[in-house]
Amino acid sequence: MTANPLLTWPPELTEVQVAALTLQATTYALSHGLVYLPVADKQPPAPTSTIHAPLALLPSPIPRRQFDKARGLQKIYNILYSRVATDVEFLDRVMGAVEGVGKVDEFTGSLWKRWIRVREAGIVQPLQLGLFRSDYMVHLPDVNKPASLKQVEFNTISSSFGTLSERVSGLHRYLLKSTGYYGSSQYLKTENLPENHTTAGLAEGLVAAHKAYGVPSARILFVVQDNERNVFDQRWLEYELLETHSIHVVRQTLTELLTSASVDTTSHVLRINGDIEISTVYLRAGYMPTDYLTPKHYDLRYLFETSKAIQCPSIQLQLAGGKKVQEELTKTGVLEKFLHDFPALEISALKESWMEMWALNEDGDAGVTRAREESSTLVLKPQREGGGNNVYKEAIPPFLDDLPPSEREAWIAMKLIATPQGLGNYLVRAGGGHEGAVKTEVISELGIFSWSLFGNGDDGVCKIEEKEVGWLVRTKGKDSNEGGVAAGFSVLDSIVLV
Ligand code: ADP
Ligand code: MG
Ligand code: MG
Repeated sequence: MTANPLLTWPPELTEVQVAALTLQATTYALSHGLVYLPVADKQPPAPTSTIHAPLALLPSPIPRRQFDKARGLQKIYNILYSRVATDVEFLDRVMGAVEGVGKVDEFTGSLWKRWIRVREAGIVQPLQLGLFRSDYMVHLPDVNKPASLKQVEFNTISSSFGTLSERVSGLHRYLLKSTGYYGSSQYLKTENLPENHTTAGLAEGLVAAHKAYGVPSARILFVVQDNERNVFDQRWLEYELLETHSIHVVRQTLTELLTSASVDTTSHVLRINGDIEISTVYLRAGYMPTDYLTPKHYDLRYLFETSKAIQCPSIQLQLAGGKKVQEELTKTGVLEKFLHDFPALEISALKESWMEMWALNEDGDAGVTRAREESSTLVLKPQREGGGNNVYKEAIPPFLDDLPPSEREAWIAMKLIATPQGLGNYLVRAGGGHEGAVKTEVISELGIFSWSLFGNGDDGVCKIEEKEVGWLVRTKGKDSNEGGVAAGFSVLDSIVLV
């Protein structure tokens, strides 16, 4: 009997084989744009060099049935989050600064207050675009029972690594074709490496918004961070938009937009530098507080939404992606309300993908008491994105000791996913003296990408056009709690279906 690849991975390779694969992998990455800007205090305006993105030498095992299930769920998630984002009453209650998380979390409150101003000014553009990524991990609490996939989170803003992920699947296909991975595993064959066309798929979402806006000569605005190193992940989308769809992109930071962006109060056209008309605002910045250097940076979100440009995401869609919303959806009857027209079977399939969650401010002290008791199997999460913000296991009790009761509302508790033990991979990173492949025990996280173009019609019903478009795997060393590639914790990876 062959070993279960969910319990023993990677297959045996000699040192010489690993070195050969590493050379082929890094040179492939560098020549196929699977790259990052190098670390530097300040990037020159026109970069002169790149480093390869952190990568795994072999694809990581995911059960075929679970992979198909995750892709199958994406449609219902697209509809769910589109409906959540258009449910004003729900978002006010859960995320708002009067009744919800926005009271105690300044970042959430600052965004919500701009949304209130937009509503007071009157909604000009009812359509919104989401480029989503739903993240999962393999859950295997008992090795004698089948594995399942459990959702980590659902991202509604700046979901990254779509286009680089396509390039990692290309890399692993190339290594397979070139070396056969030296016949090291019966699982490593082409039919077990799924196709991945995220670049075309994500661009298609932006194109759908651009077309809905209806001015072919308008451009798409990419709002980017200062000193972004993951620029190529964004550039690949830009090239796709121009080369396949003849749509131009303008890239600007929020700080640049403070002086360059304006909205014509009569036509509601968003313009850059007084002349370039913008059809769609695609945010690859603005998901964390440090992106907003001043209150004026937040006001830009208001300005964008007083225009008829389509927002990806709107403030309300960003709020819908909050961890608090994820937790709220697990409460009795909430999902059933949003998915009233779905069969019970589909609703329960969705629920099966969830870990248990609760609010820290639940039932007086009960939420906190339970978090203390169960801390060894728990993660606490605030309303933040981008990695590095959570509190895990033994760090939870001292954290709770210091957390003022008034701030509990900003946090949720979530049961830890029981990821399979004994899985490894060769992680290859550039720079920092870590060159070369390092064999490490690992945990992988699968992301499913999709887009949804939606908005309430005059009848108050949310109309949705949506599509699942591809996937991503990030793999991290077993000892790291967090999984952000950009934050330096994990590497880009792909899938071998088992
Ligand atoms: P962020 O929006 O900052 O990415 P996440 O909810 O994705 O926040 O948490 C960051 C990381 O923490 C994840 O990529 C994953 O590695 C780990 N993590 C989060 N929730 C869980 C969980 N329930 N079980 C195990 N690991 C988790
Ligand atoms: Mg996130
Ligand atoms: Mg995440």
